[in-house]
Amino acid sequence: MRIGSIIHGEERNEETRETIDIIAPHGQKKIAELALATTEDLNDAVKDCYDTFHHTMKYMPAHERADILRTTADMLEGQAEEFVETIVHEAGKPLVYARDEIGRSIQVIRFASELVKHMTGEVLPMDAAVGGEHRLGLVKRRPLGVVGAITPFNFPLNLALHKIAPAIAGGNTIVFKPAEKTPISAYNLVRLFQAAGLPDGVLNLVQGTGEEVGGPLVEHDNVHKISFTGSLPVGRTILETAGFKKVTLELGSNSPNIVFDDATIKDTVTELVKGAFAFSGQACISAQRVYVHSSIYDEFLQEYVKQTEALTIGDPSDEDTDIGPMITQEEAERAKEWIDDAARKGATIATGGTLDGNVLSPTIMTDVQDHMKIIAEEVFAPIVSVIPFKTEEEVVEWANNSVYGLQAGVFTKDINRAMRVAEHLEIGGVWINEISTYRQDNHPYGGVKQSGIGKEGVKYAIEDTTEIKFIGAKLEP
Ligand code: NAD
Repeated sequence: MRIGSIIHGEERNEETRETIDIIAPHGQKKIAELALATTEDLNDAVKDCYDTFHHTMKYMPAHERADILRTTADMLEGQAEEFVETIVHEAGKPLVYARDEIGRSIQVIRFASELVKHMTGEVLPMDAAVGGEHRLGLVKRRPLGVVGAITPFNFPLNLALHKIAPAIAGGNTIVFKPAEKTPISAYNLVRLFQAAGLPDGVLNLVQGTGEEVGGPLVEHDNVHKISFTGSLPVGRTILETAGFKKVTLELGSNSPNIVFDDATIKDTVTELVKGAFAFSGQACISAQRVYVHSSIYDEFLQEYVKQTEALTIGDPSDEDTDIGPMITQEEAERAKEWIDDAARKGATIATGGTLDGNVLSPTIMTDVQDHMKIIAEEVFAPIVSVIPFKTEEEVVEWANNSVYGLQAGVFTKDINRAMRVAEHLEIGGVWINEISTYRQDNHPYGGVKQSGIGKEGVKYAIEDTTEIKFIGAKLEP
């Protein structure tokens, strides 16, 4: 298989192009060859989106945008298993999680198709201002123009759709730069939109590395907004180079989960096993720091180790596999080094900590300190630390002691305590009696501090890909 970029419906995939090999994380076989976009392709993609916005998309009525989105969702549902298989192969995501991603992706497009018809504005009471009598004031939502969408490898379909579907709903055109590690899902998605009737030039795909294609997209003068999901260092560069564009950044975190003494130990552990180890912890809201009340700490830890050791490590395409490979050997070795670094500084490996190729065994760490990388930075690997606490005040302070703030989980039966803690956590989203790793696609989602800027969640992303315009009229009395 050899795939390339798609600009105005045409694939750019000539034999003379530079390519990179796409290697399956499980088994390390080459599954595709990616023909890279050049700077010229990127410029063509932006120009085409710019022209298509001004000549077509700006005038496309809401009912037509809704129809295209609805058709795309229906078609994705019909081809769900093919899309699942692609994610399993190119990302090494275990089947159960790949299925979950497709189910969510279908919902994201459906939410967008439903919301298109409810993008309302306002009529202002102009006579509220002295001298404003006999004036009409309207506030309308208008599309921004060209949106640059840059996405990571870990949810190659759903996170792309969190940008593309709202941008289409809002009436924009999109230049889509997917992660170079998972370009096949992106390619198939663009083909799907095409087949569903999206006009050529509304969604252009540019394939390549972040430096060669992503950077020039961010800096391009005819792009009106950059919507980026990925790591903090890249997010920081984007913020510095995007100029006057609107920017949404969905970055990383070291999510805290707080377990009070009245939580049900066994069930909370079951949730937190998923929370820390789903897709080998390669989720931005993976449970990384688990704070447990000291009165239940020993029992909790024992149960956490027991349930973690019962996980099945194996081929991601097997129905019963819980833990598959990490995305690359390099990433797996980086994560293993962080475990060893913490152990050298006094931390204890309660279970796991072993590396077999690019498969890191699910790892629980104890006796950790704030300065260790596994606490202070985003691990993005199957590593969780369990930390005892005594008071509500201290645990809130510890949870807030981070440059990140994306999502958190709080486990307690006491609603007053739960609400108090939720209020005091300096974090974008707080779940009560649910893991930090849980996300629904219709709630506002996005971090504070260095976890990001702006919100996704379909309704909020539509607001972010549109701007309000005021139209006033002076009427005759
Ligand atoms: P990454 O930052 O390495 O890459 C993300 C995308 O940015 C890729 O498409 C890459 O090619 C591109 N890129 C790289 N350098 C660039 C540059 N200089 N200019 C423009 N684009 C550039 O991230 P990754 O390894 O693919 O994904 C993991 C990261 O994503 C983690 O930090 C994780 O927390 C984060 N993430 C965040 C969310 C969220 O919603 N907050 C969701 C998923 C993943």
